Amino acid sequence: MQRPFSDPTEALETVWGYKSFRGQQEEVIRTVLQGRDALVLFPTGKGKSLCFQIPALCLDGLSIVVSPLVALMHDQVEDLKALGVAAACLSSAQSDEQNAEVRRRLHAGELKLLYVTPERIVLPSFQNMLGRTTVSLICVDECHCVSTWGNNFRKDYLALGTLKTLFPGVPRIALTATADPHTREDIIRLLDLGDAKVFVDSFDRPNIYYEIVERSNGRQQLLEFLNKFEGESGIVYCLSRNKVEETCNWLNEQGFRARYYHARMEPELKAEVQEAFRMEEGLCLVATVAFGMGINKPNVRYVAHLDLPASVEGYYQETGRAGRDGLPSSTFMTYSMQDIVQRHRMIEENAESSDETKRIERAKLNALLAICETAGCRRTAILSHFGERFSQRCGNCDTCRQPVEQWDGTDAAIKALAAVYRTGERFGTGHLIDVLIGKETEKTQKFGHTAFPVFGAGREHSVQTWQSVFRQLLAFDHIGIDHGNYGAVVLRESAADVFKKRCQVIFRKDKTRADRKAARA
Ligand code: ADP
Ligand code: ZN
Repeated sequence: MQRPFSDPTEALETVWGYKSFRGQQEEVIRTVLQGRDALVLFPTGKGKSLCFQIPALCLDGLSIVVSPLVALMHDQVEDLKALGVAAACLSSAQSDEQNAEVRRRLHAGELKLLYVTPERIVLPSFQNMLGRTTVSLICVDECHCVSTWGNNFRKDYLALGTLKTLFPGVPRIALTATADPHTREDIIRLLDLGDAKVFVDSFDRPNIYYEIVERSNGRQQLLEFLNKFEGESGIVYCLSRNKVEETCNWLNEQGFRARYYHARMEPELKAEVQEAFRMEEGLCLVATVAFGMGINKPNVRYVAHLDLPASVEGYYQETGRAGRDGLPSSTFMTYSMQDIVQRHRMIEENAESSDETKRIERAKLNALLAICETAGCRRTAILSHFGERFSQRCGNCDTCRQPVEQWDGTDAAIKALAAVYRTGERFGTGHLIDVLIGKETEKTQKFGHTAFPVFGAGREHSVQTWQSVFRQLLAFDHIGIDHGNYGAVVLRESAADVFKKRCQVIFRKDKTRADRKAARA
């Protein structure tokens, strides 16, 4: 049986071979060792695992770790075993013999860490099985899974609210890389962590440059971005498998060394591509978001998104794969009105999601769009989403390097909304723009729109400007898209405030190609 370490630093050096703790690791560990509950909100890669693994090695008895995914559990256990730590897991993925052996070691007092799923830890049979084992620490990993606000809600996590009563007096530590205030409140409430000491590490990644642009010619824009990174490795994310494969082929034609990765590939091929990405330099990996979990390549120099990510969290996680080595790295995203429309449709047409789920998804999309459309610093916008204040301009994002021009678009917004209203909320943006600029087409004539007062009322702006106006009105939620009616633009509640001039509408001026080039240089 392993004797507990008397000192956390000794465990760190002896078992992991690391010289010192990072960030707030030591404070977390001391808090837990004093018997107090802790909630740890650190971004990925900041070393959350040691925050419970080291206390486990310093305490008498057993520490139980709850983890949502069996695969994740097995990986951690294998890593610990390789370091000589007495860790094991109980899971339905193991054979009965394997689980019986784990139970034997547990009863013999040989185990320091036991990994289990949330459904198992609350079972009476599990309590019985523990018998007289001293449980010294309970750890809830990926604790954001308890919140419906997150993307990874797990119903089984709700039962973990009873851990405090099931294991009275046993300190609990909950950890996650999701720190937005809403999720944080859910975690504290649902896991009964009101008395826990909360540790938050900054989510800022100062070496990452953020750039988000309106898509005009996506491929050309990508080329311009990639040209800076000759001989460097990076990731290009696309939404669909088709687009992944097409983009990869096209990049190879353009003389890049590109490979692709998505969930539908054979496991051997996936492993080969992952290994190639890890080992080789100068490889461009075109992938769906399936790629990245557990990728720990330190010198990823760029991450590009050709489609809107799923959420701000997704954007942060995916861009966060760049520059783990701390050296300057760039991220780039293109998006368009079409992306917003498509995302709205996916939310509305998902038959499996409840109204509540849809409401949350809409709010998350809006949070992402707010970052896309901000005229302020991107970093400030991203960090404020995670409840972090970052008051100065960062100087390392597109809007800081080249401030966005803004214009008072109240009149333009009113005209655009009037065009929607007067034509009966039945038409898409293409037609609405024709009406605004007074373009006589078959359709404007057929519907008699040429005779409307709004016809030609927006001649002072170009088609591009009107596209930008509609995109931003959609992002601000002043208009919506009726997917049941061929994507017709409809008015949202807040449109009334604009009509009545109760709010000023400030638009950002879309940047030109030359603007973007100058900012990156
Ligand atoms: P997280 O769970 O927060 O994403 P991990 O626990 O996986 O992060 O740690 C990320 C990496 O940092 C791992 O390779 C881990 O071994 C390493 N690490 C953690 N703490 C330290 C430390 N104090 N010194 C050196 N390396 C560390
Ligand atoms: Zn900035």
